[in-house]
Amino acid sequence: MGIELDVKPVKSWLPKLNNPLLIAGPCSLESEEQVLDTARQLAKDPRVFMYRGGVWKPRTRPGSFEGIGSIGLEWLKKVRQETGLPVGAEVANAQHTEEALNAGLDAVWIGARSTASPFVVQEIADVLKGTDAVVMVKNPVNPDTQLWLGAFERLNRAGITKLVGIHRGFTPFRETKYRNYPNWSTVIEVRRICPHLPIICDPSHIAGKREYLFEIAQKSFDMGLDGLMLESHCNPDCALSDKEQQLTPPELFRLLDRLVIRNTSVHNPEFEDQLDVLRGRIDSIDNELIEILAARNEVSRLIGLYKKEHNVTALQIGRWTELVNKRVAAGEKLNLNRTFIQIMFQLIHEDSVRLQTEILDRE
Ligand code: PEP
Ligand code: MN
Repeated sequence: MGIELDVKPVKSWLPKLNNPLLIAGPCSLESEEQVLDTARQLAKDPRVFMYRGGVWKPRTRPGSFEGIGSIGLEWLKKVRQETGLPVGAEVANAQHTEEALNAGLDAVWIGARSTASPFVVQEIADVLKGTDAVVMVKNPVNPDTQLWLGAFERLNRAGITKLVGIHRGFTPFRETKYRNYPNWSTVIEVRRICPHLPIICDPSHIAGKREYLFEIAQKSFDMGLDGLMLESHCNPDCALSDKEQQLTPPELFRLLDRLVIRNTSVHNPEFEDQLDVLRGRIDSIDNELIEILAARNEVSRLIGLYKKEHNVTALQIGRWTELVNKRVAAGEKLNLNRTFIQIMFQLIHEDSVRLQTEILDRE
């Protein structure tokens, strides 16, 4: 389905923007002192363009800190007054949105859990209708490109054209290195469909841990994303939410110093950019291939256990011949080389037999 988004180029509404768009601030606003201390430190670096802070916090489980509430909006106003930084916060329902508009926030964002709910997005869009608001939309928690695009469309239909996408990763279905796994192919797909939409990366919620922030931030620049949203707290160890992924402002500046921002004025920038995008797609497809192979292995292991229970051999030659013929035929239909498919499935099958033999021989 084609999507035509009416998006104003970011430079037209953020003329002072020094590329890339960098948004930093605490996960949650906790106290006036914490908010202002963090802001004062962040404002010392001109690379920080906007201050973020969670006023109302969507927590996966009840009982954790759910945000300081409306008073936080007053603190954000103070931040802007004192430091000159524009300020933004997450809104998750009509009431938050009304309060954020009344407080004159420079931007609001829709969080990953809310983007996953069209009702919530529509409720927010209805309140924003007719305003000139800057609205950032995080990807939904599940890797559904259409749901993310749908949120932009709903906002666009309400007349909102100052839009930014935020890639914050997707909920993993099993234990992974990152808290939320990044999926660059989804980002690329959104970029392909809406080439004018600025998209930034939120390494904090992807990483979940400080140690992975740099590699994700660098990767997002390598992928040509337009900026970063990073959580920063004056005292992360005492943070009331997401303490393991927040950086102190000086740590944040050091991370920024190490980042290589890709030069767009190389010899043939169009070629370079396109090459990066394509290689990024290859990387994510390869990662998907590995995940699929791991899933196949798991099924093969279950078959091994079942065979052991019934005292059946690991290799059944009839099944193998049938499998390889079917795979070659399916591959040919998609223009895949016959020999390549044969060899690939030979290797896959050999490994599967090895795995099952190990199971059969286990005591
Ligand atoms: C946040 O940015 O504070 C937040 C809760 O993020 P997400 O919606 O990505 O989980
Ligand atoms: Mn957070």
